[in-house]
Amino acid sequence: MSQTPLLAIDGGKPTRETFLPYGRQWIEDDDIHAVVEVLKGDLITTGPVIEAFEQKLAQYVGAQYAVAFSSGTAALHAACFVAGIRSGDEVITTPLTFAATANCIRYQGAQPIFADIHPDTYNIDHAELDKKITPQTKAVIPVHFTGQPVQLDEIRQFAKKHRLVVIEDAAHALGAMYKGKKIGSDGDLTMFSFHPVKHITTGEGGAITTNRRDYYEKLLQFRSHGITHKPDEIKEREGFWFYQMQFLGYNYRLTDIQAALGLSQMKKLDRFLHLRRKYASMYNEAFQSRREVVIPFQRNEVQSAWHLYVLRLRLSELTADRKTIFQALRKENIGVNVHYIPVHLHPYYRQLGYSEGLCPQAEQFYRETLTIPLFPRMSEQDVQDVIQAVNKVLRYYSVGGVSNGRS
Ligand SMILES: *Cc1c(COP(=O)(O)O)cnc(C)c1O
Repeated sequence: MSQTPLLAIDGGKPTRETFLPYGRQWIEDDDIHAVVEVLKGDLITTGPVIEAFEQKLAQYVGAQYAVAFSSGTAALHAACFVAGIRSGDEVITTPLTFAATANCIRYQGAQPIFADIHPDTYNIDHAELDKKITPQTKAVIPVHFTGQPVQLDEIRQFAKKHRLVVIEDAAHALGAMYKGKKIGSDGDLTMFSFHPVKHITTGEGGAITTNRRDYYEKLLQFRSHGITHKPDEIKEREGFWFYQMQFLGYNYRLTDIQAALGLSQMKKLDRFLHLRRKYASMYNEAFQSRREVVIPFQRNEVQSAWHLYVLRLRLSELTADRKTIFQALRKENIGVNVHYIPVHLHPYYRQLGYSEGLCPQAEQFYRETLTIPLFPRMSEQDVQDVIQAVNKVLRYYSVGGVSNGRS
């Protein structure tokens, strides 16, 4: 009775002929031109374009200051440093993130404490925070997962009560809004990433935004070996050549070459965001009535930046597990992915004593989730291909669907 065509995994024709990745950059001629201009000039590392890029970013999110770094990870490390996180401290974060969020806590010798996610938003559950606080807790690092802002008011209230610093991992959330304000506009320290799959790219790169002058100056110094050239900061100045290394910093500088790309990409950010939001609503519409999946739930007070579109599988409505559905979609040439393996389950963290069962919501989500392609350079036809392939595969593996008659 069913019209379901043969899946590519069973030898049928794939939904599309070319592979569609889950995310990728969009670089145009004017971006390339901007980079070439810097290459032709005198300063290719820390030159004037870094500051122009930082100002543009700060202005865009509505913060006083932005400091660019060689990666989002380096930016997170710097944020942990200026927040005063050190050995013996504990920092609460989510397990449902890229490993770098927790790793930056380890770089400072401190201990990540994983608070489970909320089953609706997949963001850190602020109700879990109370269970994780100890006298050693120094900071909280929430992640705006997929680009949907966390419940910032509740988290900030908690942080204020316990005198904690809040470092927002906004790698997914450039351009996202919380209660009418852009992420990064207020709060202590907010991190953005410019990896090619993120909203804009500099190849590798990242930034911290803040409104605190003391943080800003320390971030700049941390980015460049802990060195200062400023006369008023140097205790005894021996001559014009003089500089001082005052604490152990790193070389985490972004180059002017990369900043030129970033500055050029900033011009396109609103267009990119518009397309991400448009494609996400096409997916919502296509999948909202399918009982085999749950579409991303969005809280009223937020506007997501839609870095990722995750579909949660209702395994009780399916005759196959996530792995089978993942492989079937890959064979249809749809570049599905999984975000994320809960951080505490990686071998490094298991060796430190974290184990399965620590965050049941995140662990269950991990078994049931699929990320489908979402990036501005996709065409509407690409979006339709994804919808068609997902429908084809879900129909096939649906309980009471085609696959039941197979064997
Ligand atoms: C991309 C990402 C990072 C790290 O950023 P890089 O620029 O790749 O170092 C950190 N946290 C999250 C949630 C990310 O998605």
